[in-house]
Amino acid sequence: MYAVKSMFKKNAILALLAFVSILLLQMNLFVEAKPKPQTPAPARTQTPKTDPAFEKAKKELPEDLYIGYRIVERLARANKIDQTPWRLAIVDEYNVNAYATEINLIAIYTGLIDQLQGDVSALGFVLAHEMAHHVKRHNAIGPAQQAALKEKIQKEAEEQVNQEIQSANNEAVGTTILGGAAQVIGGLFGGWGNVAGGAVGQGTTMMAQDRVARGQKRVEEIVKEKTAELEAKIAEQSRTYEFEADEQGYKYMATAGFDPEGCMRAMTVLGRVPGSETDTSHPAVPKRIAQLEELMAQYPAKDLEKQGELRLKTIKPLSYAPSKDGKTLRINSVPGGGGGDPFDRKLSF
Ligand SMILES: [Zn+2]
Repeated sequence: MYAVKSMFKKNAILALLAFVSILLLQMNLFVEAKPKPQTPAPARTQTPKTDPAFEKAKKELPEDLYIGYRIVERLARANKIDQTPWRLAIVDEYNVNAYATEINLIAIYTGLIDQLQGDVSALGFVLAHEMAHHVKRHNAIGPAQQAALKEKIQKEAEEQVNQEIQSANNEAVGTTILGGAAQVIGGLFGGWGNVAGGAVGQGTTMMAQDRVARGQKRVEEIVKEKTAELEAKIAEQSRTYEFEADEQGYKYMATAGFDPEGCMRAMTVLGRVPGSETDTSHPAVPKRIAQLEELMAQYPAKDLEKQGELRLKTIKPLSYAPSKDGKTLRINSVPGGGGGDPFDRKLSF
């Protein structure tokens, strides 16, 4: 009896288990039959997908050139300075420097890349600074401004020299110092060859010769002073350009979404180069840091970043090719890139 009862109980339990299993199975089926939830996959924690164009570049280009290309093309696109091509060169030398030269050519030394290795935001600032020199036409207007400055200072020197000669003439009767004035001025900034020969005229007396010698010495002093004045003015102008390139460079890099603190990290490295504490053709690094701090407060990086976002999302990565100069990488413009035949691409006949 006990055994029967037990058997019955066992069967009842088995039946119950079977029922529950079916029920669970149905529930599972039911759940599976439901449409998949529409919420997006948790992509934020995943590594962002690299654009195939960049994947190709990574395989094709040497590492340093690839880094430079990625930064320059991003800065160009985000800031709409992508309407004409850029040229990029990596100079294989351990020098902590970069420069803008020729037409739209940006060069960066491997020494600086090494010092900022992997810090794309710091490198972003360096390259943005050099691009800014080109956009602001510093290389284009610099020589013309220097020539104008030289002319102005030369004129001032001429006037001063003429005055000195005039007063020497007044004192030393019988000399023709004035006749040498043109040659003296001709020698300004360009050497001293003509001064001695031109200043001493015929019929000079001993006393007059002495005055002439003193007059010449004075002229030499004036030229020396004026040359120093010219050099100081040129350096001052160059420092103005540097401040402008820092300001524009900061705006470019922040608009392209780089970390604004990258500017400071680049400056930290530059600040360790001997001589960086004093004004030369470049402002002293502490002054550049002070300006950047002010700019960051005045133009918050988050606001600038928003301005570049849409362009970066909608404009395809800029393509590249070896430049016809045979030595640099050309980063193509938006109108000039796109592959294939430009006529087929842009015109319909
Ligand atoms: Zn510069």
